[in-house]
Parts: sequence; C-alpha cells; structure tokens
Amino acid sequence: MLRITALKKHYAGEPQPALDGIDLQVESGEMLVILGRSGAGKSTLIRSLNRLVEPDSGTVEWKGTAVTGLRGEQLRLVRGRMAMIFQNDDLLPKLDVLTNVMVGAFTEMPRWRSLLFAFTAEHRKRAEEALRKVGLQGKGRKRPDELSGGQKQRVAIARSLMQKPELLLGDEPVASLDPVTSVQIMELLSHLHRTEGLTLLLNLHDVELARRYGKRIIGLAGGRIVFDGPPESLDDAALQRIYPPDAE
Ligand code: ADP
Ligand code: MG
Repeated sequence: MLRITALKKHYAGEPQPALDGIDLQVESGEMLVILGRSGAGKSTLIRSLNRLVEPDSGTVEWKGTAVTGLRGEQLRLVRGRMAMIFQNDDLLPKLDVLTNVMVGAFTEMPRWRSLLFAFTAEHRKRAEEALRKVGLQGKGRKRPDELSGGQKQRVAIARSLMQKPELLLGDEPVASLDPVTSVQIMELLSHLHRTEGLTLLLNLHDVELARRYGKRIIGLAGGRIVFDGPPESLDDAALQRIYPPDAE
C-alpha cells in the first residue's frame, strides 16, 4: 500500500539529516508504531508521506502512485485518503464539535463549498455517525473548549473518520494526554483499526504504549530505521539502538 524508498530530508542549517535514507513498506491493514526519542525524525517521516514536509530525495509510493511527484488536485485527493491527527488538538475553537468533524469532508468538496462551510445533510449524518464511533454521541453542539483533552482528541479522530481514510497517520496523538487518557485513546484507535479496517501509522515515544498497541514497531534513531519487528522482538539490544545511551 505504501512503499517508501531511500527517503532523505536535511533541513537547512541543521548539522544532521532528519531522514537519512528510509526504506519501508506498509501493507494495508497494518497497525504500525514508529518509536524513537525526540529528534529521531518521526514527525519528518510521517509528514513526508502526505507531503506536509517536502523530502529532498527518495520516493513515497501510495498504491502504485508516486506521491512525491504529485501536484495540485491529485495531491489533494491523495491527502484525502490519508487522514492525520496530531499531538495538540487543532480544532477550530469558534465552531461546534459537529462542524469541526464535518471539516474532515473538505478534501472531497469543491473549494467554494468548503470556503462557505456549505455542508450537506449527508455530511451531517456522517459526522454524527463518526462522533458515535468515537464515543461522543450527543456532543455535537459543544464547543472545543468545553471538552477535555481526551475528548478533543476524539473529535480530531472523528474528523479523520469523516475523510473515510484508508490510512490514518498519527503524530504523537497521545503525547499531551495523561496516562489513563492515553490508554483510552490508544484503545479507541486500536478498536477502529479492527472494526473499520483502518491502516494505522502512529508515532509514539512511549515504549510501553508501543509494545502494547503496535503490531509492528519501527525503531527510528538519527533518521535511520534501527529496528523493524513485532513487539516481542523489542529486546534490550533493540532499545539500546532506538535510545542510544550517549544521546543528548
Ligand atoms: P521527532 O518527531 O522524532 O522528534 P523530527 O522529525 O521533528 O523528530 O525532527 C528530526 C530532526 O529534524 C531534529 O533534529 C529536528 O531538530 C529537525 N527538524 C525538524 N523540523 C525542522 C524544521 N522545520 N526546521 C529545521 N529542523 C527541523
Ligand atoms: Mg515529532
């Protein structure tokens, strides 16, 4: 489904490359966790997939199409199939929860409609369904600031479901949440993976969460893949490579 080949990114002015030749293949239906300390290149990797970050070289192929060569409308279509959630909620504070969820449909709407927030009854129905799937039924009229951190992340997940994504990218989706809420959100993502057949690619820095929820773990250090395997294989030697003792 996703084939990443020799992907490199070196930010101007930085001493080391953020991605130093990444080769990775992800199959449909995987639940993959990218594990690494801060600065390992996790965000750069995940954002290169939908081109929020422009890689310097290498390719990202998505279902046989080179995403790295796409422009304009074609890029927009691919981005529609790859939803993304972030560490900090990026909800629109003045709009209610239901509208925030419907924003997930922007990628399928003509530009004029999205500029006017001209959603249809079908969008509303789908958004209500998405809220139900994340356990927020009946909360559509609330404003984001009336919700807890975990609930806001649920809204962001509902918004991503609105995109009917084939791939869900999560850039540290639980890093700002307390441990109990983090587990609840990971449980929800895991449940959606099973019930919706969603392919998940999640950046995490927490080893325990990675072990518990990742079916396949990619260890990243210094912009390189230093581990690729199931959680059972994540032994001390692997952790030494992912978290080198001389780092920082
Ligand atoms: P992670 O998500 O694992 O913490 P990042 O991908 O954010 O890692 O960062 C990898 C490296 O690239 C770090 O050294 C970081 O400082 C650098 N970096 C990330 N984003 C930028 C940017 N926009 N400009 C310059 N350097 C960046
Ligand atoms: Mg990051």
